[in-house]
Amino acid sequence: MDGSPRFLSARAAAIQPSPTLAVDAKAKALKAEGRDVCGFGAGEPDFDTPEFIKEACIQAIHDGKTKYAPAAGLADLRAALAEKYFQDNGLASCDPSQVVVSPGGKFSCYLAIQAVCNPGDEVLIPAPFWVSYPEMVQLAGAVPKILETGPENGFRLDPEALRGALTEKTKLLILNSPSNPTGAVYPPELIRQLVEICLEHGILILSDEIYEYLLYDNSEHLSPASISEEAAKMVITVSGFSKTFSMTGWRLGTLVADAPIAKAVASLQSQTTSNATTFAQYGALAAMRNWEQAMREVKDMLQVFDRRRLKLLDGLNSIPGVNCVRSTGAFYLFPDIRDLGVAPVEFADRLLEKKLVAVVAGEGFGSQTGIRLSYATSDDVLDKGLARIKEFVEEEYAS
Ligand SMILES: *Cc1c(COP(=O)(O)O)cnc(C)c1O
Repeated sequence: MDGSPRFLSARAAAIQPSPTLAVDAKAKALKAEGRDVCGFGAGEPDFDTPEFIKEACIQAIHDGKTKYAPAAGLADLRAALAEKYFQDNGLASCDPSQVVVSPGGKFSCYLAIQAVCNPGDEVLIPAPFWVSYPEMVQLAGAVPKILETGPENGFRLDPEALRGALTEKTKLLILNSPSNPTGAVYPPELIRQLVEICLEHGILILSDEIYEYLLYDNSEHLSPASISEEAAKMVITVSGFSKTFSMTGWRLGTLVADAPIAKAVASLQSQTTSNATTFAQYGALAAMRNWEQAMREVKDMLQVFDRRRLKLLDGLNSIPGVNCVRSTGAFYLFPDIRDLGVAPVEFADRLLEKKLVAVVAGEGFGSQTGIRLSYATSDDVLDKGLARIKEFVEEEYAS
């Protein structure tokens, strides 16, 4: 079918579909054909949403909470989130007027970028990056500037590299710790150094903390906005319910920013999606109001993730030519395959074709040397998939 591309806007013609969703779709299609696919592509927890959260949402529907909600989110939910950012993330203060609830952390990021970026502004994005950042920046007419990081520094941005990338046009730095796709966690001291450089130069920070509670090896999460009152004014903090509480399909994201920015974000939302689904927000409110119970469930999930993480890490590092950093966050590992002498995208395509193992090639994340594997998958898939990858590498790339 001819898609009549001549009718497309320049913006729409330039946009790439999300490659992570594409791999997942391909693997799911093969599975639907009855093929025995080992999927490492998933960008979501494989657990169910905690029962009490589901119950609260169902109750809200029964209670008739099926109408529009305020654009910025339910007042009670915004108040509970403001309290969380004060208590749990250590912000010196957080008023509900600084909080916006949106249909997904992804949309929170999009709105944040729309709210602060003008055409021509430069946005610094450390690579490997989450696939959507550069596209979102371009949708705002701004210019993504990619800052390479590698396994040698644990996929973390070096303060000197940040300094070296600054120009008069630099508007925003995007930080994502714990990181998708690398699982890297920025230690508090490094966060402080990076924030200090940004404050010195009047640069805003978009801190995507969607994996803030998925931490291993006693690694620590520091919210940049908690560093100082000045930092709180310059940092837009994005998070959400998807990854922490296994609620990806609920579409619930959060944003905390200086009040004028939060207000602009809410206005953008009011003219686009209106509000995050009303009854879904009641599920989220239950999670906030029963925080300890919710965190117990997260802890149980984390124990399982951690065990799988170590199994995947050991398995990958036992394959000659594959080198994997011991990342301590999210549910991803990002092994380096440069020693195999093959481009990630070719490796991933052939692996799916020959061994029915789905991984995500690094190119979509701005890496020419790595692949992303998610350990949000069963032990069975981990064992079988690792064996197949090992076999594949031995057959195809053994020198
Ligand atoms: C999953 C993810 C998000 C947002 O997810 P939502 O489902 O839209 O809440 C944001 N940033 C990163 C890095 C992610 O991996």
